[in-house]
Amino acid sequence: MGRSPMDTTLMPIAGGADPVAVPRTRVARPDGRTDLVGLSKAAIADALLAAGLVEPKQARMRARQIWSWIYNRGVTDFAQMSDLSKPVRDGLEQQFVVGRPDVVEAHVSTDGTRKWLLRSAGEEYEMVFIPDADRGTLCVSSQVGCTLNCRFCFTGTMKLVRNLTAAEIVGQVMLARDSLGEWPNLSGGSATASGPDGRLLTNIVMMGMGEPLYNFDNVRDALKIVMDGDGLALSKRRITLSTSGVVPMMARAGEEIGVNLAVSLHAVTKEIRDEIVPLNRKYGIEELLQACADYPGANNARRITFEYVMLKGKNDRDVDAHELVRLIKQYRLPAKVNLIPWNPWPGAIYETSDEARVQRFSDIVYRAGISAPIRRPRGRDIMAACGQLKSSSEKLGRAQLDRLAEEKLAALG
Ligand code: SAH
Ligand code: SF4
Repeated sequence: MGRSPMDTTLMPIAGGADPVAVPRTRVARPDGRTDLVGLSKAAIADALLAAGLVEPKQARMRARQIWSWIYNRGVTDFAQMSDLSKPVRDGLEQQFVVGRPDVVEAHVSTDGTRKWLLRSAGEEYEMVFIPDADRGTLCVSSQVGCTLNCRFCFTGTMKLVRNLTAAEIVGQVMLARDSLGEWPNLSGGSATASGPDGRLLTNIVMMGMGEPLYNFDNVRDALKIVMDGDGLALSKRRITLSTSGVVPMMARAGEEIGVNLAVSLHAVTKEIRDEIVPLNRKYGIEELLQACADYPGANNARRITFEYVMLKGKNDRDVDAHELVRLIKQYRLPAKVNLIPWNPWPGAIYETSDEARVQRFSDIVYRAGISAPIRRPRGRDIMAACGQLKSSSEKLGRAQLDRLAEEKLAALG
């Protein structure tokens, strides 16, 4: 099979707003220097060579040393890279940076959830950290905004959309580590390799702003860096990628990234899913569930998570729960269901299902032998909960939101 138009980062993204094309190669900064964050080890070696800083024979070794400073110790200042010679450090300083997104705002919820508004290359996006007793989950964005306009999601109402670069995606993880104070203390002399053990940041979910499978190459490159055993070394079992159902990219996600899969199902009939997840008009429920059944690596130990947002009177009836069970069984899916009480945002037309309704829905699914926990909303007071992320300060009225939805739907074809 030839490459489909979806295979490239520069693909046309369905929706009313064209994304800004994201260059795949080194990104020149306004100061002319290149950010080393987001580059693979091989790309760092190439960059060192091209910059005339190393002999060809040394390039790979130097790249490994620099990699370790960046990803094991969180060093952003070349002067601290003590196993490199002074001329190399000076040369690095002149031509490269170890960058971070700028922090525009930082908020802490009463429940301990933290949200950061970040900015790079002029655009803003958000990341969220959710601490729990036994884990700490970083919710990472893949795009500024989202073209898909699911009717219950605040991010979908953003007009501006562009893909985040691999550097901006990895940069979120680096910044979270900075903020949580999770790099080894260099002055203490007992710097150890990084790893999830004993750390605050143990898990990553690609559930922030944007549709990760509409920015496949950058998300893949970024997650490969995050999983690299010589650096951040987060296991693929601790990373979950959530998609609203970009069927043609799901097999590649399994093969080339291999992380846990979460699918935003949210409805079990064509009529309702077409309405609330408009991408369903392109890739329907059957196609989506078949892609889940084919997802490499899914088995009973690594189940696929089906996310199901509970919308009052829309998708929360007993018959919906029964149909959900039937579908999961029909496709023999190793699955669990995550029931998400809908999180409100200004101008939305939905309501959260009553607690008793959510509980009853959960019971039906549980009784069929499928785990169906109810996700406790986190960080609602700082608008950090699922589907509440929106970076632009623009406030759209109901009529404008409807018009925007229609535009995006029309572009979906
Ligand atoms: N674009 C991807 C990942 C980001 S959204 C996706 O859609 O899967 C992360 C999850 O939050 C998705 O399941 C999404 O459907 C859900 N969500 C969006 N808006 C929500 C809201 N207002 N309340 C609760 N969940 C919401
Ligand atoms: Fe985009 Fe996901 Fe929000 Fe849908 S739910 S609009 S795919 S971010």
